[in-house]
Amino acid sequence: LLPVLIHTILYRTQAQASTASFLLLGPSGAGKTSLLTLLERGSTSATHTSQTPSSAEITLPSTIKSASNEYRSENDSSFSGAQRFILTDTPGHGKLRQFASDKLDAKTLKGIIFVVDAANLSKESGGRAEEGLTEAAEYLHDVLLALQKRYTSAKTSKGPKELPVLIAANKFDLFTALPEKLVKTELEKEITNVRNTKSKGLLDSGIGTSDDAVEEEKEWLGDGGEGKFEFRQMEEVNVFVDVIGGNVTGADGPGVGKWWEWIAKQI
Ligand code: GDP
Repeated sequence: LLPVLIHTILYRTQAQASTASFLLLGPSGAGKTSLLTLLERGSTSATHTSQTPSSAEITLPSTIKSASNEYRSENDSSFSGAQRFILTDTPGHGKLRQFASDKLDAKTLKGIIFVVDAANLSKESGGRAEEGLTEAAEYLHDVLLALQKRYTSAKTSKGPKELPVLIAANKFDLFTALPEKLVKTELEKEITNVRNTKSKGLLDSGIGTSDDAVEEEKEWLGDGGEGKFEFRQMEEVNVFVDVIGGNVTGADGPGVGKWWEWIAKQI
């Protein structure tokens, strides 16, 4: 019995270690916990923070085929049946820096899902960004910069493999939610502001004027940090950003279907 047991445990650990994984990031209140719960259980009822796991193994709905299973029929012996993946929630913005390097390098990592509250991104009439937009943009800036560094500091000339980022514009059931296009441009604009503020801070402190300047260049997000930031600049460092709207709760709205499809495309 013991060898069988050991074999089973080893097999399971191996399967777990090679299962596709995704990271769930985003400012608090965006809907990460709700999304994790919905994808795992099929409903958001009983979302008590204390009981909610921070990591869950999720099965793709049978109606959605992953990219790797797309052309296989179910009679095909290589058809792997239900596609599973692991989704890891990462509560707390401050913790990003500590986990970033090792989590981002994980071989199983297939993508990052960055959740934002699309109803909390609009500008005030005075033109000053609301806190929600700034918070989301600062966090996203740091995530994208970490991904850029992963590329620029890669040992091989080819650089690390592609890493797709889904900006899940959540709460599309609310009429105050910005449409996808605006979510994208507002975030790009605000990330540009974040970058400018950061570079100004460095210049004021004298860091940007020394020999370190070249070294520091790597620290600017996108295209050397000049002009407007756009998500497509990230493609140069193998990071592909999609903005897709959806909603976890509420009767109206597109739901999570397109997010499922995005996930399926990556595994
Ligand atoms: P987290 O801090 O990112 O984990 O966010 P939570 O999952 O705790 O959600 C924050 C709040 O937003 C909760 O009150 C949720 O019920 C609510 N929420 C989450 N998703 C949606 C959505 O799609 N629409 C609306 N209207 N509310 C949502």
